[in-house]
Amino acid sequence: MSDDVEVPESHPRYESLLTRHRIEAGVDRGITSRQGLIAQGRGEAFDYLLGERTIDSADRAERAAAAHLLSADHAVISVNGNAAALVPGELVELAEATGADLEVNLFNRTEERIEAIAEYLREHGASEVKGLIADGRIPGLDHERAKVDADGIGDADVVLVPLEDGDRAEALGEMGKTELVVDLNPRSRSAEVAAVPIVDNIIRAVPNVTEHARALRGDAEAQRAAIEDFDADSARADAERTIREGDLE
Ligand code: ATP
Ligand code: MG
Repeated sequence: MSDDVEVPESHPRYESLLTRHRIEAGVDRGITSRQGLIAQGRGEAFDYLLGERTIDSADRAERAAAAHLLSADHAVISVNGNAAALVPGELVELAEATGADLEVNLFNRTEERIEAIAEYLREHGASEVKGLIADGRIPGLDHERAKVDADGIGDADVVLVPLEDGDRAEALGEMGKTELVVDLNPRSRSAEVAAVPIVDNIIRAVPNVTEHARALRGDAEAQRAAIEDFDADSARADAERTIREGDLE
């Protein structure tokens, strides 16, 4: 990636340094908000305690999320400034593997940032990006926070929301949508209201959901089983236990 700095792969914090640099570059490009820098820092602390790896319960959540995306009537992947800065190409691949739409959806919404993110996703291969029309509303939120595309998130039955704000995650759930959340904090309200909380770094989570989707594609029975066998409460509890008690190598 041209945006990436030279960090030796042998560096013990290789992934975390690369991640920070991508967020920083995202801010410079007008993709990520300055608040996004703080959100990243919060996430990193949890990731450190998880051992910067995908724990088994997160892998099961990623499989269940893949199954939900594949079996949805209309799945939408919501993209904010941090997600776009960290995994633009991976989000496009996930959308292609599952047939989901991509929609830019920002907590701190500005037309410039929406357009910059949509353009960045197109540069990474996206053919269609929603979120620019904003003719739908999520009930129960103030005007700016509530904006979505009526034929995107407004119409979706399944929504993947990485790093979403707690209020908005709650409001989407109240609209009856099945929410798949990526959030490194298992006690974040977003994770708590999710049907499928994925407690993993978005950098590892998105490619792994895509891999599961490729394996589950065309197999309705396996998709049904992946959804039914997943237990959100025990996944959240397992992540919290790992964070509190896990052995750091
Ligand atoms: P709450 O949901 O309890 O209201 P919050 O919304 O105030 O918490 P924010 O800082 O707004 O928290 O949201 C950022 C969330 O995203 C944090 O919970 C953080 O752990 C998580 N996060 C940040 N970076 C990543 C990442 N790279 N991968 C996964 N999760 C991340
Ligand atoms: Mg949150």
